[in-house]
Amino acid sequence: MDELRKLPGIGARSAERIAFHLLKTGREEALALATAVSDIKDKVQPCSRCFNLAEGPLCHICADPRRDAGQVFVVEQPKDLLSLESTGLIGGVYHVLMGHIAPLEGVGPDDLTIAALVQRVRGGGVREVVLATNPTVEGDATALHVSSVLAGTGVAITRLARGLAPGSHIEYASRAMLEEALRGRREV
Ligand SMILES: [Zn+2]
Repeated sequence: MDELRKLPGIGARSAERIAFHLLKTGREEALALATAVSDIKDKVQPCSRCFNLAEGPLCHICADPRRDAGQVFVVEQPKDLLSLESTGLIGGVYHVLMGHIAPLEGVGPDDLTIAALVQRVRGGGVREVVLATNPTVEGDATALHVSSVLAGTGVAITRLARGLAPGSHIEYASRAMLEEALRGRREV
């Protein structure tokens, strides 16, 4: 219960419920959870191409030949990727920046995966880069920086538009909001 309570969103009551559930549950189910927890630390690593969470060198999206590798959605964190994936509207692939530019927190462009993105675009095969950072001050600043370093590479650079209110987060956006933001993306 002490360990469960350290998890985000789990209070004392929930920790108690989960602990008692695990006591009652079959050995197989309980061990499946334990194995999954241990795999997070042992097997999960950043995808070598897009920095999404992966269990091998490439994540399941980069490894999927049905995805359009020419359209790259640039997001701040893996959670944003999951939100966009949940719309079922993305046929392209992703690039996870692993954060956003925040000078006050000491996070600059070099702390993100921007150089890897530029290299990926220069490597060819990318037609459109969709800036899907959050519509916050930091997200906008990051999008601006990414678009400036990609200028001259010849790819179309678009930004998610309407639907996402300024200051909101992709992670918490509804499917309808994300759909509108995706459809209304504009060239930057
Ligand atoms: Zn990947």
